Amino acid sequence: MVQVAALLQKHPDLEIASETDNEIVITGWIQIARIFNDFPIVKNVQLEITIPIAQDCFPYVKDTGGHIDTKYPHRYLSGRLCLATEIDLRLHFLDGFDLLQWMDDFVEPYYYSHDYYQRFDCYPFGDRQHDHLGAIQSYCDWFATSKMDTVTSILLQIEANNHYRGHHLCFCGSGKKMRDCHGQQILYFYQYPQLRSQLISDLNNLRKELQELDNERNRSSSK
Ligand SMILES: [Zn+2]
Repeated sequence: MVQVAALLQKHPDLEIASETDNEIVITGWIQIARIFNDFPIVKNVQLEITIPIAQDCFPYVKDTGGHIDTKYPHRYLSGRLCLATEIDLRLHFLDGFDLLQWMDDFVEPYYYSHDYYQRFDCYPFGDRQHDHLGAIQSYCDWFATSKMDTVTSILLQIEANNHYRGHHLCFCGSGKKMRDCHGQQILYFYQYPQLRSQLISDLNNLRKELQELDNERNRSSSK
């Protein structure tokens, strides 16, 4: 894989630990060197990068050097790092995945943010919730709204409509024509099938979550 070769060349302390038909696992050290608001961080971190061979999956990272506090919210119990939501990654790599860019735009900033957070108790590049809530936040950012019902309305209508029609009313409920409102942001979900399927999968997860909450509520009220 060409991209792996480029990665190993850029980070000489990384090496291929194993390679199967499904994934390539890379282990070793990378250097983080970043500065934000006059706060520089230069350090080496030990990690494990798993790169799935399947076209449609993003790589993931495990902290193997104990650099990330186990209580840090953006670290899963497995040690896997919560780099970004799926939809953020898909929006970022619309025209194809790039491993080096992913390292630059997600992995290194992740380590930087962690250390910044430990020092200042706030995030340098903004915070994101996990899982479903995180996904909703990503959509709020993309559609430039903080209103939950606006974003839900847009998502549900993208799911329900198979074609983009710019002269129809915008899904956000503004009463304007789509093309004069959220048209550009909505159009992406029709131009890039991977975005629309991610959106549908996020909605399904959200429904499942709500259903479980509902079931719990029913169980506790019938007691
Ligand atoms: Zn709109």
